[in-house]
Amino acid sequence: MKVLVATKDGQGIRKNDFCWVPEGEILHFGFECDSDRDDIDGYCGCRRGMVGLDCAKATTTMKVAELPVKRREVFDRLVKHYREGWKMKVKAAKETARDELKDLSKIVASFPRGVVLEKRGDKFQTRRGMPKEVQR
Ligand SMILES: [Zn+2]
Repeated sequence: MKVLVATKDGQGIRKNDFCWVPEGEILHFGFECDSDRDDIDGYCGCRRGMVGLDCAKATTTMKVAELPVKRREVFDRLVKHYREGWKMKVKAAKETARDELKDLSKIVASFPRGVVLEKRGDKFQTRRGMPKEVQR
């Protein structure tokens, strides 16, 4: 299925970029704190980052990729994440995972494969200023 994965492509175009996620790892939404609700470029970075499903670290650059992974597998991994990491009950974890997967699918559906994206609060957009050779 089409997913968002971590990429180092495009890192540094914004001064406050970071990528602590291994390249190619599937990304999902991270927790966003309230303190910097209005400040996408704030110190915390939670409103411009997506989080690796395995490493639980964040990145500000992400790529749309087609991986040989089934929707069900990603769903199960998200449920596990909310069960173990957030101590959610089964029902709540499944609901959260379903909603999140729906949002993630909607985002990747509107961009072609291989494009590098950035998150600006609630909005995803293609990263501008990418060198031609990585903009495939
Ligand atoms: Zn934050």
